[in-house]
Amino acid sequence: LTAMLRQPRLLRQEAYIGGAWVDADRRLAVDNPATDAVLGYVPDLGAGEAERAVTAANAALAEWKARPAKERGVILRRWGELLNEHADDLATILTAEQGKPLAEAKGEVGYAAAFLEWFSEEARRVMGEMIAPHQADRRLLVFRQPVGVVAAITPWNFPLAMITRKAGPALAAGCTFVVKPSELTPLSALALAALAEEAGVPPGVFNVVTGDAAAIGEVLTTSELVNKFTFTGSTAVGKMLAAKCMGTVKRVSLELGGNAPFIVFDDADLAEAVKGALASKFRNSGQTCVCANRFLVQEAMVAPFAEALSAAVEGFVVGNGLAGNTDQGPLIARSAADRVGRHVRDALAGGAMLHSGGEQHQAGDRFYAPTVLSAVSPDALLWREETFGPVAAITPFASEGEAIALANRSRAGLAAYVYTADASRQWRTMEQLAYGMVGVNTGLISTEVAPFGGIKESGLGREGSHLGMDDYLNIKLGCLAVQ
Ligand code: ADP
Repeated sequence: LTAMLRQPRLLRQEAYIGGAWVDADRRLAVDNPATDAVLGYVPDLGAGEAERAVTAANAALAEWKARPAKERGVILRRWGELLNEHADDLATILTAEQGKPLAEAKGEVGYAAAFLEWFSEEARRVMGEMIAPHQADRRLLVFRQPVGVVAAITPWNFPLAMITRKAGPALAAGCTFVVKPSELTPLSALALAALAEEAGVPPGVFNVVTGDAAAIGEVLTTSELVNKFTFTGSTAVGKMLAAKCMGTVKRVSLELGGNAPFIVFDDADLAEAVKGALASKFRNSGQTCVCANRFLVQEAMVAPFAEALSAAVEGFVVGNGLAGNTDQGPLIARSAADRVGRHVRDALAGGAMLHSGGEQHQAGDRFYAPTVLSAVSPDALLWREETFGPVAAITPFASEGEAIALANRSRAGLAAYVYTADASRQWRTMEQLAYGMVGVNTGLISTEVAPFGGIKESGLGREGSHLGMDDYLNIKLGCLAVQ
């Protein structure tokens, strides 16, 4: 991997705590999911180092939050610029450890940088309020102040962007930050730390602790020095960690699993719907929490949609993401490919019809062929669980009411998509879908300028946009008596 980088120094293999690079005798191997080759090693740290990182973040807090917002913004902006300047190297590291095609990895670098740029601007727009008082001799002031030390646990599917969309608003608000990245993709997080250091983020303000998830997680969710915990990952782990946070009543933000419906009405533009489906379903091999998971297609549209989608995915080049022409890379782990296979077999046993794929891909045992199924029962595993793989499961519906009811039949509530040409129906469905985000005639909804987040069991809080600052600010009332 080093040989592929213009700046080999971005391949850091130590953790970053209190502005120092930290090594350990025990190390964890990081591998390339496309080839199984070991790319490097990171320290296998535990509770002690997590406590050191939290202590360092706490020690750095007073000076960081006292700085004028503009100064913090300038540093954040520089950090974002450095991501863009090193986009090729960061994308190479990201693809090597994560698997997504290089073009997608480059897209993620830009997306990750955009959060730093956006929040560098928002830093200066934190406003307090004065409220008309309830008595003549009182004045009521509302302050918005940084919550303090923020701890984050992030997943492997967006190894850079899931960190910057948390660290961006945290640092902008005046908080300090400790992150435990996924053990599957720590190299991207450490490259990010190298660039934070270069951008002038002071020691202790941004810390990366690699290693034992449970041991580090225990400290991050129970330490009295941590004021806020923010997590992106699976629903089960998120619920468990959020529960631990209640022991010290931390502020909590969660971005958990989705089970996104993708509804295609028979008046929709077929070519656009297929384009949106490809973007929403097959990006990152289907491993995003906003990926379409359940395709609800109006009866007359099922055959043309399934055929067109199937024709498109049959043209995919599946393989190593580092090869220039790859459309679809591997899944993150063998167990992920096994789960996809289990879901597909379950659907077929339940009477589903196979249009393409339906098996592991010859590129290797972490690869799954892009798959299109129709006549999938709403009782199938593909519907009940988040498949997190390259499988489009189509279920027919007759009426708009039926589509909405089926779409809302989930404990998840992150993203939903609708394709229809009818303007009134666009409004009705946007309003009635019980989701945090609804894409209408588009399969891509994520941008740093808009609020990202879920309802129901998909999460708490919002990331991105001006609203994304709220998760890192406490509200304080000042009630002043005047004579
Ligand atoms: P995914 O399906 O995205 O792998 P996980 O929830 O397993 O979802 O992982 C998301 C993050 O949560 C990763 O950084 C992982 O290391 C971390 N994690 C998983 N289990 C635990 C745990 N018991 N305690 C703390 N962190 C955990």
